[in-house]
Amino acid sequence: MTTVDLSHHISAEARLRKPTAMKEIWRLASRKPNMVSLANGDPPNILYPIKRVTFEIASPTGDDPVAAWKEESSSTPTQVIGATRDGPSVLPVKKAMQYTNGAGHVETQKAITELVHAYHHPPNHVITLTLGNGDAVTKCFRLFGNPGDHFLADEFTFSALVQAAIPQGIKWVPVRMDDGGLVPEQMEKILVNWDAARGPKPHVLYTIPCGQNPTGSTLSVERRRKIYELAQRFDLIIVEDDPYYFLQFPSSSSGTDTTYAPSFVSMDVDGRVVRVDSFSKVVAPGMRLGWITSNAQFHEQLVALTDSSSQHPHAFGQIFLSELFGPEGWQPPGFDKWVRGLGMEYKRRCDFFLDLFTKEVASTGLAEAIPPEAGMFVWTRIHIDKHPRYRNEVAGSEGARGPRTNCKKLMEELFDTCLDEGLVVMPASIFKVGSDPQYSEPGDSIEDRLNYFRLTYCGTEETMKTGLSTLGRALRSFFAS
Ligand code: PLP
Ligand code: PMP
Repeated sequence: MTTVDLSHHISAEARLRKPTAMKEIWRLASRKPNMVSLANGDPPNILYPIKRVTFEIASPTGDDPVAAWKEESSSTPTQVIGATRDGPSVLPVKKAMQYTNGAGHVETQKAITELVHAYHHPPNHVITLTLGNGDAVTKCFRLFGNPGDHFLADEFTFSALVQAAIPQGIKWVPVRMDDGGLVPEQMEKILVNWDAARGPKPHVLYTIPCGQNPTGSTLSVERRRKIYELAQRFDLIIVEDDPYYFLQFPSSSSGTDTTYAPSFVSMDVDGRVVRVDSFSKVVAPGMRLGWITSNAQFHEQLVALTDSSSQHPHAFGQIFLSELFGPEGWQPPGFDKWVRGLGMEYKRRCDFFLDLFTKEVASTGLAEAIPPEAGMFVWTRIHIDKHPRYRNEVAGSEGARGPRTNCKKLMEELFDTCLDEGLVVMPASIFKVGSDPQYSEPGDSIEDRLNYFRLTYCGTEETMKTGLSTLGRALRSFFAS
């Protein structure tokens, strides 16, 4: 039950999608005990050539379990979780491996629901399992997007997903960011000044609130509240793509005092937030498992889409998670210990990276790093205006909406110089949303603000050392040309 009727946000495609008729019949088999079914082609579980599934995993013991695990030796504690065909297991193999409904097995859903309640206390929301945030976000775009719709997004964002919505006819409207992420006042300005001649007013915001990809920024509590209020005022859905939530940093690299930022879903009294989480950064990208937290109506739509496309996530992951959170596994306190350890580890890596950056790159006076508070990226500002060939045609293009500098061209040349020196970086240009000049203020084209590289501290210390000294060298040589 939502407190506010948000059904008008549902796309025409989703409205036409009916629950799968076969799945409806399938559901009848569990209507009451002892139902006999001659209906479903469910492969008999005695034919599954799997008797037992076990996983040997880290044991989250000690103050810094991730540091201990990283130094893995024969004495590093591990534990074994798993399921047998008939149980006793939280999710026995014979059940896990059978078809189920699109939301996932109830055992796994229950474990995830408890997790979500512990971290977010969502007022009135339901869990749908997914194949990770790529799957989840693209499903959300199909749930809300009609051809010609406008969606708002951080002006630099995870472009793979934004691009996925373009063939669907979605038009992206970038919202200006600063070092603290999306600027609520800029979002308000777009919505207040929306010209109906452009088409329908944006009704969805896609945003990455923690350790944003690519800028590394984390939205402050104050900004989150303002953005949620704007969503209420202008009737927006917020798609909160938050894969780096559990990679928020403690205040020091040995601290366990991480205060997780309040998510949009935690403030969502209306049911207008669709929160998207993933195990890709918490366990491993190959998990291909995540979940959506949404109101019940959107959940039903997402289940119908899942039932008629990818189906429920794989049993191996659902067994893993059911057991991980079960009595033989980490349980929620162990999980909490592990993710706080992950936050410490990413902070250690980030500190190491930033120290090197100061020595090798900032010392050139040609670039600066914007320190993140979460995630795996450092947004690196290049002082492109110091380049001898930098041009800023302020006088000639007053009032014009297009670019007025040669920033883009110079950054392309710098990217090539890095490549020639043997270094690959991610240029800002590939993350930029939209290129329609009508969305920029006169004299504020995003093309003039492409002077950033996304750098990561995911690599080894050796990679960071070589990479940053190469960047320093490339900058010196490029700015001398
Ligand atoms: N969304 C964002 C913001 C990401 O950074 C990523 C991964 O890089 C994804 C989604 C995709 O995540 P998943 O592996 O859960 O599909
Ligand atoms: N196509 C056909 C013809 C089927 O019979 C089924 C399963 N009943 C499917 C697709 C769905 O298969 P899967 O479990 O591999 O998603």
